[in-house]
Amino acid sequence: MVAHTDTAVAHTDTAVGNGVDAVVEKVCSDELPVHSLERELGDCARAVLVRREWLKRQPGVASAEAVGRVPHEGFDYDAVHGACAEMVFGYIPLPVGVAGPLLLNGKTYQVPLATVEGALIASTRRGCKAITAAGGASAAVLSQGMTRAPVIRFPSAIRAAAFAAWMHDPANLAVAQEQFATTTRFGRLTSCRVTVAGRYAYARFVCATGDAMGMNMVSKGVSAVLDFLSAGSFGDLELLGLSGNVCCDKKAAAVNWISGRGCSVVAEATIPGHVVESVLKTTVAAACELNVAKNLIGSAMAGALGGFNAHASNIVTALYLACGQDAAQNVESSQCITLLEPANGGADLHVSVTMPSIEVGTVGGGTILAPQRACLEMLGVAGAGQEAGSHARELATVVAGAVLAGELSLLAALSAGHLMRAHLAHNRKPAAP
Ligand code: NAP
Repeated sequence: MVAHTDTAVAHTDTAVGNGVDAVVEKVCSDELPVHSLERELGDCARAVLVRREWLKRQPGVASAEAVGRVPHEGFDYDAVHGACAEMVFGYIPLPVGVAGPLLLNGKTYQVPLATVEGALIASTRRGCKAITAAGGASAAVLSQGMTRAPVIRFPSAIRAAAFAAWMHDPANLAVAQEQFATTTRFGRLTSCRVTVAGRYAYARFVCATGDAMGMNMVSKGVSAVLDFLSAGSFGDLELLGLSGNVCCDKKAAAVNWISGRGCSVVAEATIPGHVVESVLKTTVAAACELNVAKNLIGSAMAGALGGFNAHASNIVTALYLACGQDAAQNVESSQCITLLEPANGGADLHVSVTMPSIEVGTVGGGTILAPQRACLEMLGVAGAGQEAGSHARELATVVAGAVLAGELSLLAALSAGHLMRAHLAHNRKPAAP
């Protein structure tokens, strides 16, 4: 069934012409595959134009006219093709705002945040102001390692156990490391822990991935290790899936919360009482009391899994979108425990965030797109760092520093009862007359 035929043609994008209509006809009659227009036409922008017209005629599109309103001009589809998205018919612009200055580890950052949640950037900015007025925050990377855990089935539980014992022998790890290294210049296998469940073995490989977030890199290296093992001592291994969910990518899981994934970071600041009162409009006691009741007791009662924070995911996701990170990894990247304690006999406020799974990269993935790369350049961390992984680590500290600011500001607003007022001011427009 062809939907919206006549109306679709009536709403043809103004840019369409130059033989596009003829190509659209070919796509609609299945002479040309719509998924590979970029390759067939050798022109990514033209492929987008054709796909839009094709889409307007498809069942499941309730408004062909709406397709024409999704922006498409002025975008670098060559960069997207083969790297960032498929079946592309346009792009979604997002506002990007700035929270800063944030003084962190002695350096000043202006943090780009892409979001459609009003009040988020303003609030994070207020947290940055308090931190900077306090003389800055400090952050340290506790560990760095991307993980992949294939699920492997053996003929018996005893063989699965033998595999675990083999992998846990340091001499054998060196063999695996050698195989892994054949696939990458920057990746390095650092450890592997096998979890056995009956005949199933989940080998959680941990790898240094330089300045890349590393998911593809690790998957490639782990495949090479498994190919080697199945051709040798473990010919009876049956690889059921390269990802067996013990990794654990894009799912809430205790394994990341406990063992970490990507960069594990801790950040802290001590905010003088007068700054708590003048900038954050609350008191040390009220902020600490709320943090215990909400982020510790409340989250415990909710059965939270790494969710001992007020809204870390807000800042993580907005920063990830601005900086070309894999936004779906906000699930584990936002795991965070926020601690607020009185300092200096209760006069000041000590605040910290501990985030075990910040998965970021400054090369590869969405960081190749010019606007996202520009945001990384603003932060001074675009591309490869001088020392392997130094840019990725610095970006991870910025994530934690910005979360620290966001946590401070929201907890302050909640403890002072200002949250709803701020949201109504920044989040709601008066109804159209
Ligand atoms: P990638 O773009 O696939 O790989 C990074 C590339 O950059 C590698 O080819 C690497 O070289 C090269 N490189 C150059 N300089 C580097 C440096 N200083 N440090 C590290 N690498 C450097 O990126 P990735 O981080 O591995 O994977 C990210 C992508 O994976 C994202 O698009 C994400 O959405 C996607 N993803 C994949 C999965 C999955 O299951 N496969 C899951 C989630 C997300 P070498 O080749 O020599 O190492």
